[in-house]
Amino acid sequence: MSVKWGLIGASTIARQFMINAIRAQEGGEIAAVMSSNPERAAAYARENGIPAAVSTLDALLKSDIDAVYISTTNELHLEQALAAIAAGKHVLCEKPLALTSADARKMVAAARTAGIVLGTNHHLRNAGAHRAMRDAIASGRIGKPIAARVFHSVYLPENLQGWRITKPEAGGGVVLDITVHDADTLRFVLGDDPVEVSAFTQSAGMAAGGLEDGAMCIWRFKSGLIAQSHEGFTTKFAGTGFEVHGSEGSLIASDVMTQKPDGSVLLRTAKGEEQLSFDREDLYVRSVRRFHAAILGKGQPAATGEDGIWSLASAEAALQSASSGKAVKIDPKLGSMK
Ligand code: NDP
Repeated sequence: MSVKWGLIGASTIARQFMINAIRAQEGGEIAAVMSSNPERAAAYARENGIPAAVSTLDALLKSDIDAVYISTTNELHLEQALAAIAAGKHVLCEKPLALTSADARKMVAAARTAGIVLGTNHHLRNAGAHRAMRDAIASGRIGKPIAARVFHSVYLPENLQGWRITKPEAGGGVVLDITVHDADTLRFVLGDDPVEVSAFTQSAGMAAGGLEDGAMCIWRFKSGLIAQSHEGFTTKFAGTGFEVHGSEGSLIASDVMTQKPDGSVLLRTAKGEEQLSFDREDLYVRSVRRFHAAILGKGQPAATGEDGIWSLASAEAALQSASSGKAVKIDPKLGSMK
């Protein structure tokens, strides 16, 4: 089967990971790229060997494509996804799906009505490390999960120090950038949903315009588990990690909150310590593989539109908590959707 893709957004993430991930699929083809600037579109197409460059959404959606990958700045995702769905194209959209969970629900509802596959590109679900942790928990290897800790504070590379730290209107800030991933990864690994969050945010010197460049969140999950997550743009020397502690054991993963299939997962129980083995498939290649399969009616995207609503509702609640100084309930309002 061939799947012809149109890229909405001449972005860094597409150039670094997603173009390769699409081309790694049997039948995966990139037919066109859209940038708001015609010169950028042409240069991007040339540099990446993409046959067509367009500068309007209309032109892209009229071209011979089956699916779109949306990786523009966050405020544009809603309108672009709704237009693509109306044109009958399957949509793999970057996180956050939109600026608000209410808008994300509109996208998911529109895709459902149109019978379109909508996926959220939460790449971390595709990491072998996280799948190994999820399997270990689901099979009872740490007993009853009690607490989790996510270490995901990084240093934002200079080439990305643009809209993320200057433009609130584009959905900048570390919460919409990284906390959404952490909320999704916690849900996926724990097989549990967050119900409440309390968050502190900071502006530690990088972000402007009232945006936050650091966040610490405390989450309560349905099962009673509590978790903490730390997201940041300004910590040059902090490693990443993810721990889940249960009644019968602990999972301690290092260097796993990344874009690469790296890191290690240690299981510690009364029997001693064991390094879990896991596959090292490229996270983005797996994401597109699952998306292609979903188009063929085989299963769901690795992260669905509903998962994207959940992660955005969680991040939204974290921002509300940081500004109000109070714990905030998390409700994705999936029941209110048709
Ligand atoms: P970029 O800043 O690289 O690109 C976003 C938009 O900015 C592009 O669509 C482009 O607009 C414009 N742009 C990019 N480079 C330039 C330039 N040199 N000059 C002028 N304009 C430029 O964003 P990212 O790739 O970092 O992020 C895009 C989306 O992907 C976001 O939603 C983000 O949250 C998400 N993301 C997801 C990741 C994941 O692992 N799931 C990782 C990184 C990002 P135009 O297309 O109109 O030319």
